[in-house]
Formats: sequence, C-alpha cells, structure tokens
Amino acid sequence: SPTVVIVGAGHAGGTLASLLRQQKFEGRILLCGEETHPPYHRPPLSKKYADDEFVQWLKPESFYADNAIEARLGDPVVHIDRDARTATTTSSDVLEYTTLVLATGAAPRMLTLPGSDLDGVLSLRTLGDATQLREAVHSGSSLAIVGGGYVGLEVAASARARGCEVTVVEREDRVLARVASPELSAALTRFHRDRGTRILTGAEVREITGTAGRVGGVTLADGTDIACDLVLVGVGAIPNDALARESGLECLTGIVVDGSARTSDPHVLAIGDVTYRLHDTLGKMVRLESIPSAVEQAKQAAAVITGAPLPPHEVPWFWSDQFDLKMKMAGMVDADTRPVLRGDPSESSFALFHLDSDGVPVAVETVNAAAEFMAGKRFIGNRTQLDPTTLADPATSLRDAVL
Ligand code: FAD
Repeated sequence: SPTVVIVGAGHAGGTLASLLRQQKFEGRILLCGEETHPPYHRPPLSKKYADDEFVQWLKPESFYADNAIEARLGDPVVHIDRDARTATTTSSDVLEYTTLVLATGAAPRMLTLPGSDLDGVLSLRTLGDATQLREAVHSGSSLAIVGGGYVGLEVAASARARGCEVTVVEREDRVLARVASPELSAALTRFHRDRGTRILTGAEVREITGTAGRVGGVTLADGTDIACDLVLVGVGAIPNDALARESGLECLTGIVVDGSARTSDPHVLAIGDVTYRLHDTLGKMVRLESIPSAVEQAKQAAAVITGAPLPPHEVPWFWSDQFDLKMKMAGMVDADTRPVLRGDPSESSFALFHLDSDGVPVAVETVNAAAEFMAGKRFIGNRTQLDPTTLADPATSLRDAVL
C-alpha cells in the first residue's frame, strides 16, 4: 500500500496527516518528529507563555492512534535516500516511502557573540523553550530581548504584563523593519513605550556578559551596558533544510517548491516554514513563516497525494497579539506603495491599506479592526481598486471606497 512518510511533526506535518485521513487516504502515514511532543500550536508560546493555556495541542492525544497515524516522536530522520526511497532515523530505522513530505520547519538563528552560551540566554521555538521562559519571567526579573520582530515584541508585552523590566534591542532603525510598514512600527513602538518597555533602535549587541556562567547583562556596540538576568534572542529563524540539501534537492533560502508543494523530486513534497516558493498572489519568491501558509501547503500536499483538485491560492496573512492589541496583516508591504490610514492609532484601533499606483491594495495591516482586515484581504485577492480619500474616512463604509 502507498506509504507517506512525513518528516517533522509540527504544524504543517500534523495538519497534513489529519487532512489525509479526512480525505480518506487509506495508505500508511508515518509522522516522524524530532521533538518528543505531538504537534502543538507555537503562537501561544510567545503570547501566553505566562498563562496557564500556553500548551495547546493541535489534536487530542488519542487522535493519532485512532486515525492510524504512526507517530514516531523523539526519533528524528537523519538521512534520506531518494534512489532507494527511504528515510533513516536516529535509531537506525529505515522507513520506505512512496511519498516523502519534508515539514521540518525552521530553527532560531543563534548569535555568535561572546557570552551567547551563558545560562539565561534563551531562544523561543519549542515548548521546552517556552517552559524555560515561563519559569524565568516574573515580577522583579529583568529581560533583554535581542531583536524587535514579532516574537520579540510579543514576549516583551507578556513580560511587561507580568511586571518584568524589559529592554528590546533592535539593530535596524525601527522594530519589525523586515515585515511591517514604518507607520505600523511607529505606532507599536509608541504603544510599547507607553507601557514601560524600553525600546532601543539602531542598537547592536556586542557582548553578553555574566558571572559564574550566568548572564548578567548585555553590552551594546556604543558601550552602553544594560543589566538583566535573562536574554531572549529573537533574531529570526533559518529553515531546517539540511536533509534536503544533503540529498541534492533544489534549495535556495529553504527547499524550493512550486504552487503544489512539489520539490525537484516527484516523490518528495515539502511544506511549511522550510519551503521557498514563487507565491501566486505576491508574484515573488518567498519563504513564509506563518500558520496560514503552513496550512495552505498542507492542503496542497494532501491534494497531490490523494489526487484531489488543488485548493485555490490564498492571500498570505498573519496575526500577532500584544497587550490588548489584536493585529492582523495580509499581503506584503513593499517600499513603493502608498499607505492610507483609516482610524486613529492613538485610539488603538486602525488599519493601514497599502495601495499600489493603480489604487489596488497589496497589503493591509490592522490593529483591533477585524472588518478592515477581512475586507482588505478580499480586496488584495480580487485586485480591487480603491479610492484613497473615501478609504481614509472611517465614517464611510468600506464598500463605498470601491471604485
Ligand atoms: P514547525 O511547527 O516548526 O514544525 C517542524 C517540526 O519538525 C519541529 O517539531 C522540528 O523539531 C521537526 N523536525 C525538524 N527536523 C526534523 C527531522 N530531521 N526529523 C524529524 N523532525 C524534524 N505564525 C502565525 O501565523 N501567527 C503567529 O502568531 C505566530 N506566532 C509564533 C510564535 C512563535 C514563538 C513561533 C516560534 C512561531 C510563530 N508563528 C506564528 C509561526 C508558526 O508557528 C510557524 O509558521 C509554523 O509552526 C510552521 O509550521 P512547520 O510545521 O513548518 O514548522
């Protein structure tokens, strides 16, 4: 019978296994994970690590056995042989496949600075990481966060809410420089500062200092010392594409796949954070790191494996929760677009529509504005032309802005 071997029991891999059974795939499904836990949600790790609900399983414990999904946890795949169509695990099990799916995700980028290996220097990707953070962050502790990306800012918000002293050190001249518009970066920076977070931009960490093997502070390139008893490194993630590279699959910034999760080998698919693809809606090569993208590609892979029609392409989107701000973003901001603000950032509810020269939005960024997000995402997908003046007036209906 056909055998699907999924390498990586994370969000993409776990979703694919369940979709295959939902779509009546009757072959064997092997779900191979490096972590000892079944698949879980990563978003709460940075948003709710301080709360009790920080562990959210993707499926109930009995789901895998009930659905004849052979979960092989804590035994990572260390080698693939594409000629023999086998995957070999750490414990030397050789797994034969008809289709191999690489869903190995990404790993936190590490710093090579002096002091990076001190106790109390953390990164955040796994449940284990979040548990460490949870134990260390409390009122009276002080946290330095290296990197003002979404993960860094989310951790900052929850740490402040717990009464922890927080400093964010960002090398670029604004937080979220890679992923958000300057307008959103400015609004968020203000918001965090108002809640007592220190945010330093254009600032680079030169060294992490400490005594007796334990972190005590960070030193910036300009000589500033910041005392802290915990450092979170949140400087992005790199794709876990080593297996693919070693086996000669085409890789660039991740495993290259097409719009149906196919790699350069017809028997190998790849999904989730590890992939690099030409995105239909965006019209460019991207490596997306988001749940919606992982789920979209899991659906593509399920369709390829079962022979069902491919799902329609989706406008990429993402969310983030910081303090009482619910943010949702769709599309991708680029330098040539014109921002149109709807609402008032100081009221903590607003949307930024980024229009191209034809008045078509390529991205929308929303804060506590669910209706604007839904409409904006639809406008991006349908390439709807909008009138900027009407759009900017929150008293008019969004429908009236459509040209
Ligand atoms: P992962 O979920 O990382 O799973 C990959 C799995 O593969 C891992 O368990 C890994 O151990 C395993 N693996 C790697 N190599 C091997 C091997 N050789 N053999 C076996 N197993 C292997 N996205 C959003 O959309 N919204 C959010 O708010 C959001 N917040 C986030 C907050 C945090 C703290 C983090 C870390 C991520 C967040 N993301 C968010 C991103 C989202 O979690 C990822 O996009 C998603 O998990 C990607 O799924 P994946 O299956 O590709 O990778």
